[in-house]
Amino acid sequence: MSAPSASFNLAPAGVAGRVALVTGASSGIGEATALLLAQAGARIAICARRADRLEALAAKLRALATDVLVLPADLADLQAAQQVVRNAEAHFGRLDLLVNNAGVMYLEPIDTADLARWQHMTQLNVLSLIATCQAALPGMRARRDGHIINIASTAGRQANPNAGGYSATKWGVVGFSESLRREAYKDNIRVTVIEPGVVETELREHIAHGPTQAALNAWADGMRQLQSADIARTIVFCAGQPAHVNINEILMRPTDQER
Ligand code: NDP
Repeated sequence: MSAPSASFNLAPAGVAGRVALVTGASSGIGEATALLLAQAGARIAICARRADRLEALAAKLRALATDVLVLPADLADLQAAQQVVRNAEAHFGRLDLLVNNAGVMYLEPIDTADLARWQHMTQLNVLSLIATCQAALPGMRARRDGHIINIASTAGRQANPNAGGYSATKWGVVGFSESLRREAYKDNIRVTVIEPGVVETELREHIAHGPTQAALNAWADGMRQLQSADIARTIVFCAGQPAHVNINEILMRPTDQER
């Protein structure tokens, strides 16, 4: 079987007309990704808890002549997570691209970690992501077409002090994504995991351990941080590849970030 001939055109032509679901679209990377996907011609379902933020984004997406579905939900509820996928499929008739981006980052030392907080983080960052993948698989298998892009982190490749719980979740996303790829590739389903370094978003605002938050902010302030649009551009680049190309993994840091 031969692949189509090479081309140097990097425009995300393959995204036009695709149906995408972006989780965690009320801010940061997810919001930027939804905007860029819409600019590239995708139809989009957006999900997060803050309905007002989703509605504001939906207005911008509709101004780009995109068909948008707003799905407010708490994805830490696994049944709700699976229902979000089904609602997107019911509205658009199919789901081509699932971007599992919703996540939290609760950093604190292991000795004193609030395990209820880490349980919630694991539920959202790992189990909810697994749940949306499970819900999307039957439709993608039936159509022999689909792409799942999971957002992990450098913390899924490089472990640091005070990031044990978060690293465990992102390591989990990386491992799960490779298992998923190997279970699904024969049905023409692509799986990509993206591992960003420091991105300037709201994510750090939820760190309850003051010294860790201060240290992370000081570290981030000392570098030219990645912007949400940088990750969005990478996601759209992966999603726009021809069907025979599966970019499995992208590790991307700010130029100024060493570890
Ligand atoms: P943001 O805090 O801006 O975005 C997180 C998104 O997740 C928001 O839309 C939030 O919406 C949503 N979310 C959080 N909890 C839930 C929930 N229970 N149910 C549904 N949605 C939820 O941060 P980022 O854009 O930075 O984070 C996006 C992803 O990127 C995360 O997975 C994060 O781990 C990852 N990442 C971020 C990096 C960074 O440096 N910023 C680096 C590497 C990876 P709402 O609150 O409205 O529910």
